[in-house]
Amino acid sequence: MALIVQKYGGTSMGNATRIKNVAKRVKRWHDNGNQLVVVVSAMSGETNRLIGLAREITNNPDPREYDQMVCTGEQVSIALLAMALKDLGLEAVSFTGSQVAITTDSAHTKARIQTIDDKKLRAVLDAGKVAIVAGFQGVDEFGNVTTLGRGGSDTTGVAIAAALKADECQIYTDVDGVYTTDPRVTSKAKKLDKITFEEMLEMASLGSKVLQIRSVEFAGKYKVPVRVLSSFDEGTDGKFDDEFRKTVGTLITIDEGDDMEKAVISGIAFNRDEAKIALLGVPDRPGIASAILSPIGNANIEVDMIIQNISENGVTDFSFTVPRGDFDKAMQILNEQVKDDIGATDIIGTSDVVKVSIVGVGMRSHAGVASKMFQTLASENINLQMISTSEIKVSVLIKEEHLEKAVKSLHTAFGLDREDGESKVAGL
Ligand code: ASP
Ligand code: MG
Repeated sequence: MALIVQKYGGTSMGNATRIKNVAKRVKRWHDNGNQLVVVVSAMSGETNRLIGLAREITNNPDPREYDQMVCTGEQVSIALLAMALKDLGLEAVSFTGSQVAITTDSAHTKARIQTIDDKKLRAVLDAGKVAIVAGFQGVDEFGNVTTLGRGGSDTTGVAIAAALKADECQIYTDVDGVYTTDPRVTSKAKKLDKITFEEMLEMASLGSKVLQIRSVEFAGKYKVPVRVLSSFDEGTDGKFDDEFRKTVGTLITIDEGDDMEKAVISGIAFNRDEAKIALLGVPDRPGIASAILSPIGNANIEVDMIIQNISENGVTDFSFTVPRGDFDKAMQILNEQVKDDIGATDIIGTSDVVKVSIVGVGMRSHAGVASKMFQTLASENINLQMISTSEIKVSVLIKEEHLEKAVKSLHTAFGLDREDGESKVAGL
């Protein structure tokens, strides 16, 4: 018997039939002797619909009132799922975030969880019932409802699993696990049985959309085993037992370092949301990077990759990337507030770029990983505009038109291709 937290996303909760299917699934896990806490998202499209409503009223909604409204999608979901479970003869009790109590700070629209009171959930479980909890929401010390940022139900699931010391947190999605790369880009993408928290965090930060980044941070910090799996999986002969549980989906876990066979690279991530800006002919002296990037930071624009060359004649070029949505604003700030001040000769930019990254903890113990990446891309005639590295990843910025070729060639070069031809990802 295990204590399992299951989180179902908007697609799994998409309509009445699907909610009934989730209920059947929960019941089968329960029938196999497991204790269950189920965290749910709003029905698919519902959160966007609510945000749209707010926008019809104002371009600048008050953050407290925004949270008060946008959290309602999840409240509908918990009640519907509880009804569906009762219909199947299984007792279930639904809770909003504040009823649990999941307390957060007061940073509306992106609040962070501070504490979770497990008393009510434990009482429900001890009585043999299923507890259902609204994802994405909490309550601050003043009793205001808060939300955790888009995709925040993942974090609710992991945080509850941490608070209850659950055996695992299962995140149900419309794919059957975490893939080596996006199967829409290469049909040779392969489902991973296991990935470390660190790798998953890099993959999520670099553009893989399987899990909310914060949920992975949380899982790593509290060592909660997280399993990503599909709500379409059928179980072993229809049985959802421990044996089935241990083989299905992708387990995100600590690096046990025992996997001698493990590939050096676990996955390839990419992000189209990049734009590149270069300031030409800037003086090479102390304070220049700060003079360029401070006004950008003050405008809340996140800077990602940065390069500055050394110079022989006292002037150099300084380049960096920003999210595409902030490109125009960044260009305007630089032209109006920075260019003349620092004496740059020109500012040029393009959003015709993407970032492609290889990720793997195996990099720590293997030399030559970056050069293999560069060689592979060179043999495809792909020019590298920027490079950045960390302990377990190498990222390059390339022209967008080369994205598919880059991902496919790297996937093959690092031995990630599935052997048996076509991808079998559900829904693709
Ligand atoms: N319903 C929220 C959203 O759409 C939270 C979630 O689905 O995780 O972002
Ligand atoms: Mg999600």
